[in-house]
Amino acid sequence: MSERYYRDTLVHVDLESIHHNYKMIGSKHPDKTFIAVVKADSYGLGSDKVAHYLSERGVGYFAVATLDEAIDLRMHGIKDKILVLGIIRPEDINKAIQHRIAITAQGIEWVKEAKAHVDDKYEKEVWIHIKVNTGMNRYGTKNIEEIKEMIEEINTFERFIYEGIFSHLTSADMDNESTEMEMSAFKNVIGQVETPEYVHIQNSAGALCYDGDFCNAMRIGISLYGYYPSPFVESTSSIDLKPAIDLTAKVAAVHNLKSGESVSYGRTYTAESDETIATLPIGYADGFIRARTGSKVEINGHQCPVVGRVCMDSVMVKVPADVKVGDEAYLINKNPDSPQSMDIYSDYTETIPYESLTLLSKRIPRYYQGEDVHFVYNEVLK
Ligand SMILES: *Cc1c(COP(=O)(O)O)cnc(C)c1O
Repeated sequence: MSERYYRDTLVHVDLESIHHNYKMIGSKHPDKTFIAVVKADSYGLGSDKVAHYLSERGVGYFAVATLDEAIDLRMHGIKDKILVLGIIRPEDINKAIQHRIAITAQGIEWVKEAKAHVDDKYEKEVWIHIKVNTGMNRYGTKNIEEIKEMIEEINTFERFIYEGIFSHLTSADMDNESTEMEMSAFKNVIGQVETPEYVHIQNSAGALCYDGDFCNAMRIGISLYGYYPSPFVESTSSIDLKPAIDLTAKVAAVHNLKSGESVSYGRTYTAESDETIATLPIGYADGFIRARTGSKVEINGHQCPVVGRVCMDSVMVKVPADVKVGDEAYLINKNPDSPQSMDIYSDYTETIPYESLTLLSKRIPRYYQGEDVHFVYNEVLK
């Protein structure tokens, strides 16, 4: 782990906010196992840092999308349970066994193939969660006979443990009837088959807006990081989330332009009077995408528009005349009422917090702050 960084652009990760969100969502569902979804590097926030912090504060189950992500967590010393939500290759089953990782079964063919690949090198069992398709039509099966066959196949093989059954909601972030339909389809399946230790369907939106009391676990991603899955969820839910990140950069250069002079590639922006232009050391390679031209950043309390084309490594903003090199700019502000809030930041490019977060590239050092934690992690000089 390197604390060296030589660039004044930072993603500030507030681990106590994440802890707060875990407690808030957990207190609405005190009887459910909290499965913290830390896929995609914890939505860009840093999965091993987030997982370690939460592990020390009561979370005992994590979920990721791929086997690679699960192994990465093990390599970083995470000893808690980990579930891979995506589908692993049947021939990679021994890797899951070796690293003690729970996996998802999407159908009887998959179970049979995986079983055929189990070898005796690691004489241990593997935990399996059966994926039920209730309308997402991404992974899993809705065929009840097939699900029964899968359970039978798993239960009759000593190396397999039937640990979970789950589904995934398509529309819990919207105001419509799909969620009720999908929940009752899942409940109907549960009622007809042997139930394992963990039964789960709720994602963040499902947990914020519904009780789902026939389930005993839930998988929470975006809201753990302090963001509502949609404005609908925010207005429906009584849970008060704390956004976890700020994105800041420090002014690296200031140019005084005369009327008629232009800015950046293609000279697409031309000063109409004498103007001050500040350069910030962040660009599209950092996830500050080209479509952000025209959006605003905050410097010394002023709202400053991005002018000209966004470059790979830098961006220019129009600023008041007194802005100096070294002044700090907020590009994303964890205050939900700020003009740089995650919602406004995402809306500007017609996207959602999920995508905005995961776009923030690993080139930006992460500055972690928490109860007993205070350090910078720089992936570039790791
Ligand atoms: C990503 C994911 C989640 C978490 O969803 P959020 O909306 O971020 O809470 C839960 N379950 C599955 C299967 C997922 O892929």
